[in-house]
Amino acid sequence: MGSLKIFVVIAIGFMSNFSAFANESQSSFYTKIHELQALEIYRNLIAYRTAAGHGQVPLMAQYLADQFINGGFDEKDVNVLPFKSNKGEDIAGLVVRYRGDGSSNKKPILLIGHMDIVDALPDDWEKDPYKLIEEDGYFFGRGTLDNKMGITSLTTTFLRLKAENFTPTRDIIIAFSGDEESGMVSTELLVTQHRDLTDAEFALNSDDGGGRLNSKHVPASYWISAAEKTYASFDLTVRNPGGHSSTPRSDNAIYELADALKKVQKYRFPVRYNEITLNFFAASAMSASGDLGEAFMTFSKDPNNQKASDYLYQTPYAGITRTTCVATMLSAGHAENALPQSAKATINCRIFPGIEPSSIKSELQSIVGEKVEVELLGNPKASPASKLRDDVTQAITKAVHSRHPKVPIIPAMVPWGTDGKMLRANGIPTYGVSGMFIRDEDAFPHGLNERMPVKSFFSALQHWYIILHELAGKK
Ligand SMILES: [Zn+2]
Repeated sequence: MGSLKIFVVIAIGFMSNFSAFANESQSSFYTKIHELQALEIYRNLIAYRTAAGHGQVPLMAQYLADQFINGGFDEKDVNVLPFKSNKGEDIAGLVVRYRGDGSSNKKPILLIGHMDIVDALPDDWEKDPYKLIEEDGYFFGRGTLDNKMGITSLTTTFLRLKAENFTPTRDIIIAFSGDEESGMVSTELLVTQHRDLTDAEFALNSDDGGGRLNSKHVPASYWISAAEKTYASFDLTVRNPGGHSSTPRSDNAIYELADALKKVQKYRFPVRYNEITLNFFAASAMSASGDLGEAFMTFSKDPNNQKASDYLYQTPYAGITRTTCVATMLSAGHAENALPQSAKATINCRIFPGIEPSSIKSELQSIVGEKVEVELLGNPKASPASKLRDDVTQAITKAVHSRHPKVPIIPAMVPWGTDGKMLRANGIPTYGVSGMFIRDEDAFPHGLNERMPVKSFFSALQHWYIILHELAGKK
């Protein structure tokens, strides 16, 4: 870090405010053309309110398309695709192909991100969420983290490589979705209806994975996200003829539902594991101490060790060891003086990758018994874990270590869901490899006053530049 500071001071001399260097988290060292271009694009993207219902996704897609065409991409390789969201709103996807010379004889690499955001209400924010504001070493604005930084990094890296006359040894394709936060209709259509434009050997997701800083802003670890759990909810319903509350019956919908819920509470789904979770626990054991570190290590060596899985079941890591289901909503009865005619609870499950929601439904049915109706809500898709690839892991390791040497690179399965699960479900292995490094206490995706450390934003540009050179450059 010391040498970087000296370099920067020499490079920009007295043009800069020296007090800015007093704190590692403060900026502003961006001077290169691609950095200034990235900042301009980031600023323009934050200004689009691309939340569901505001109609701005097609405008943002067109703005980005114009940047690619102005940057030298052939118009026929830049496709704004009109879609309808699940609410019937006009949205869009964007696909841009960077043509390679084919010399590697490999299928294309797909790079993904999403243009939409979760809405931010200006009145609730301290600052205007649709104006990029730099303050105290952070960029503030809706989407600064999720996922307009990823969109900006990928776009700018394509423009930079084009300006440098880089010719990849295989095609590289950008595919940006338009409703990741509200339905993933565009994501699915990008890899089904438009598979001719997006088919690839694997995908790298700018919206998942990434680095963690400790509370003192020092890089602590980097996660490659290679699997996501499947999200599925079920309604459990008990029905009953009911009657007058002065004359209780021996059967009662509320009591029977309560009994069923207690069974779900007590039930533990069987331990599951894959290469990714075992690697995750082995790597995490290095940085955890005491009983937790020991449980991580034991589980990584023998996931059938009951003592280790019992211990982890009581920690926030339970979800990485198995499917979990939990009651989240409840409604029953229709009058205080009537026997309940129905009682219903909603159970939210996070299903281990590779397991079908229908098989969890059968398992729940056998736990609660025949008197309880079990209904799967919606049409969730199971997505398999993506098998780790040496070429991807090596490229990511090089990109991360060139900036932060020795940071452990940890493959991970995440409990949330991104476009990645839709790609995996459609046969494209996907790795979440965001370029960001951020502290847990600064990460507010979907929340108020979303922010991104300025240093992390610019550093991520180098991250993608190295990755694309590694995976598609001439050796
Ligand atoms: Zn996101």
